[in-house]
Amino acid sequence: MAALSVRDLSVRAQGLELVRDVSFEVHSGERVALIGESGSGKSLTAMAIVGLLGRGLSASGEARLGDEDLLGVSERRRCQLRGDRIALIFQDPMTALDPTMRIGRQVGEALRQHRGLSRRQAAEAAVKLLARVEIPDPARYAHSYPHQLSGGLRQRVMMAIAISCDPDVILADEPTTALDVTVQRRVLELLDRLVREEGSALLLITHDLAVVSEMCDRVVTMYGGRVVESGSVESMLTAPQHPYTDALLAASSAVSIDGASGEPLPAIAGSVPAAGQFPPGCPYRDRCPRASQQCTTMPPLEAVGDRTVACWHPVGREEPAAGITTEGTLK
Ligand code: SF4
Repeated sequence: MAALSVRDLSVRAQGLELVRDVSFEVHSGERVALIGESGSGKSLTAMAIVGLLGRGLSASGEARLGDEDLLGVSERRRCQLRGDRIALIFQDPMTALDPTMRIGRQVGEALRQHRGLSRRQAAEAAVKLLARVEIPDPARYAHSYPHQLSGGLRQRVMMAIAISCDPDVILADEPTTALDVTVQRRVLELLDRLVREEGSALLLITHDLAVVSEMCDRVVTMYGGRVVESGSVESMLTAPQHPYTDALLAASSAVSIDGASGEPLPAIAGSVPAAGQFPPGCPYRDRCPRASQQCTTMPPLEAVGDRTVACWHPVGREEPAAGITTEGTLK
């Protein structure tokens, strides 16, 4: 049984379907990357799984944690499961940590809540956890407040909280994006080690394909709130079939600079439309160089070998895609 099984997950707001029919699994000890540009639906998917969607957003479908459906249980039960069996690491730890509470108390809180430890036992366990995430002088830092720590140390604190109850699943949403580049690698190496030691399933939301290649086993690409491709890291990163995954890969290896402003140019032609502004049919149609008339209808997500792909004209297909001119424009 998968540690986390997401089935037909959709998120709606004010009549708009922001995430549609997302399905994937993460097994114990497996690391799955959820990739895509901002606005692709990655973080909404993650927030829906753990029941932390904002006001006005609603989710349907299933997110099974073992034999319990996180979307079907009561809010009380969901709170028990969060932090106990599924742990979260956010992009900005400052928003997740309580600025008025000492670090040691925040780390020990989950152990008091979910494991029934006394205040003293939780304080001792917190210091051990801080040492485990390689915080120097953990006893001293346990008495500090979040604002007294650097961004890198705060993210280590988040990891200590995440692993405190030996979760089945760790969900990390861009865990190093807010950090200095020099700190990012060390924090990721730590996350890599902790997940390995815990044997937890990891769902890593990231836009960094170098990290995906080093840390993950499988990749799920999202665009327009849908899964457009999934498969093993080896096959996805060496021979992407969906034009969007292909463009993400090309963009990750080439940074263009605007000659006039000196600013980085968008690496993929066009930009992600606002919610509700995606074209009918394939959501990538307006940006896709392989688009044809057929793409005005939504391609089904089909299994091809170890891969699932939603595209009428996948990259690498032998025959020329019907309706595409040599310039890649619609006939
Ligand atoms: S070829 Fe068509 S279906 Fe495939 S990604 Fe491009 S627009 Fe979408």
